[in-house]
Amino acid sequence: RAKSLGRGQCAVYSASMAQQIAHRARVRDRLKLALDAGELQLCYQPQIRLPGQTVTGVEALLRWTDAELGEQHPADFIPIAESADLIVPIGEWVIEMACRQAVAWRDAGMPLRVGVNLSARQFRNEALADQIRTTLERHGLDPALIELEITESEAMADPKRTGQLLKRLRGLGVAIALDDFGTGHSSLAYLRELPVTRLKIDKAFIRPIGEPGSETVLVKAILALASTLGLEVVAEGVETRAQLDFLRDNGCNAYQGWLFAKAVPAERVTALVQAMQR
Ligand code: C2E
Ligand code: MG
Ligand code: MG
Ligand code: MG
Repeated sequence: RAKSLGRGQCAVYSASMAQQIAHRARVRDRLKLALDAGELQLCYQPQIRLPGQTVTGVEALLRWTDAELGEQHPADFIPIAESADLIVPIGEWVIEMACRQAVAWRDAGMPLRVGVNLSARQFRNEALADQIRTTLERHGLDPALIELEITESEAMADPKRTGQLLKRLRGLGVAIALDDFGTGHSSLAYLRELPVTRLKIDKAFIRPIGEPGSETVLVKAILALASTLGLEVVAEGVETRAQLDFLRDNGCNAYQGWLFAKAVPAERVTALVQAMQR
């Protein structure tokens, strides 16, 4: 495409490429500093069981506001961390924090299951299972209180290998969810073989629910598939009452989304759950 542009535009094109590379390098350097300085934050988005109003778990989501770069979004900095070998130490930190928080909630009489996102790079790291096992043991945490999330597309990129890795992780007793489900072209044959416990319907399928003329056949198909395979389903990105009603009426097991709460600091989750218990 650059070829078809005139000379001047070609220069502009490559300058912006250079800018992008420089920006990524800067994000990488700042991210490394933030990790070392303890400036990364984990927030937690409640997951609510259906039917009813019980918060049964949370998803841990990274938050980072850099003094120079401002607020940074995981969708932007996680890929940079991946390509810069920072994702492994960041991921270790996330698992450590998530376990600590799960212990704190358990000890406070609210045993919430904490979901942890794993990126492809972390997931393929041979040392991951050992690291998780050691962390769980060190904290004396029931493995069932941790749910590892791996995206469907990453799982299906190499289903045989994914199966082996997931079996090891599942063997630790942790729950395993396929994230962004519906976008990753699962082979049903492989899906049946994978030792996963939940499917997380991608928010792209939830968004149109309740809009006039919207297609809900895919969401219904995912719910039926999950039920056939004996898997639970959690819907992500639930923003409206209409979406929630549809999911409940069609047998979805749980949801998360802004309708209930955004990802918030742990203390806010605690306060929320305590308020609901009263
Ligand atoms: P994800 O795992 O699919 O997380 C769900 C995303 O949807 C989160 O975006 C969450 O804030 C957002 N969300 C939740 N409810 C709603 C809603 O009602 N409406 C809309 N529009 N969005 C909603 P976030 O926090 O920006 O994270 C984006 C992605 O970054 C995550 O997608 C996950 O893939 C990745 N990520 C976040 N934290 C971590 C982490 O600790 N480790 C790794 N490896 N990846 C992470
Ligand atoms: Mg997730
Ligand atoms: Mg997701
Ligand atoms: Mg995702």
